[in-house]
Amino acid sequence: MTKLTDETRASLRRRSRLVHLGRDSEQSQGFINVPPFRGSTVLYPDVATLTSRAQRYTYGTHGTPTTDALCAAWTDISGAAGTVLAPTGLAAIVVALMTALGAGDHVLVTDSAYAPARAFANGTLKRMGIETTYYDPCIGHGIKALMRPNTRAVLTESPGSQSFEIQDVPAIAEVAHARGACVLMDNTWATPLFFAPHAHGVDMAIEAGTKYLSGHSDLLIGLVSANEAWFRRLHRTVDQMAIPPGPEDVFLALRGLRTMELRLREAERQGLALARWLQGRPEVFRVIHPALPDDPGHELWKRDFSGSSGLFSIVLKPVSEAAVAALLDGLELFGLGYSWGGYESLAVPFDCTTYRTATQWAPGGPAIRFSVGLEDIEDLKADLDRGFARLRATS
Ligand SMILES: *Cc1c(COP(=O)(O)O)cnc(C)c1O
Repeated sequence: MTKLTDETRASLRRRSRLVHLGRDSEQSQGFINVPPFRGSTVLYPDVATLTSRAQRYTYGTHGTPTTDALCAAWTDISGAAGTVLAPTGLAAIVVALMTALGAGDHVLVTDSAYAPARAFANGTLKRMGIETTYYDPCIGHGIKALMRPNTRAVLTESPGSQSFEIQDVPAIAEVAHARGACVLMDNTWATPLFFAPHAHGVDMAIEAGTKYLSGHSDLLIGLVSANEAWFRRLHRTVDQMAIPPGPEDVFLALRGLRTMELRLREAERQGLALARWLQGRPEVFRVIHPALPDDPGHELWKRDFSGSSGLFSIVLKPVSEAAVAALLDGLELFGLGYSWGGYESLAVPFDCTTYRTATQWAPGGPAIRFSVGLEDIEDLKADLDRGFARLRATS
């Protein structure tokens, strides 16, 4: 076997790149995968090198061949200038916000943002003298009216957590960039495989690798990719914070990367099949899934995205809390729990009214979010069918 030439590497299509990115079997003694390099101390050959630190690896917090492999691969599929890692998806959001903001600044955060990101803005950012304004996720160019002279960053998340509004990210980026503000996006739902963040005006794109990159509900990791304008500042910030993920988790994330496109495509197929089935159920008032043609965000989704994931929500026709609990408590295949993107299907009831401040959440009934896994779709339908029977028997 001959080593990939740079020319061949540059010509590879994405599926092939996902197989080859970030690997160098020569450096791994011929073994296929980059091993989890563990360590604090890195040795230097002499005092001069130690003093100048003029070698690639200098200390455990500043990167290892394992973290380099994941960052290089992620940078490539994101179309970014560089990537940094964080121990969780939420930590990745924190790192991006800390890079863009300083004392006295103002940040615009979508009202549909991942709720713990709001907690960070309302708590730590506020304590640091940074003010947050929440905005309607569907605001588009209208965000202009909310920009202040000290607005330094706009956080987007598309589709929104739980409620799945698709944002006009290019429109928001156009306004933000005209005012010199940085555009952040939580791109966990689509991943860079289904939404190219930097090609749509995003400066720093956040991914909770805990979800589809992991794919197996067995690790926590976060990634932030940045364009040329922001990568150096991002790298400096995360390096000073010294919060690398554990080496085993980076290793597992790299392993997940190899099959991520296959798993995402299957999640999309299964998710759409279940969403369409749920649309036909008499107990269901509405299915919220941007890849369905009647979804309010569908046109924007079609314009900007190249796929959907297996995560979507439904709104039930009004029933009692006890009826919703009867549906969910008896499920045998759908697990009841937070996070998503693993191989096992999950369901969680949710209510955005408990935290939204800029927009009204009035869906018309109790809401449930599904993460569709890899089980046979007929078994999943049967599980829900029995659940709907329990719901009807309770209400
Ligand atoms: C889960 C999630 C996160 C946080 O990821 P953790 O690794 O659990 O901290 C961030 N954003 C979105 C949209 C998520 O769903």
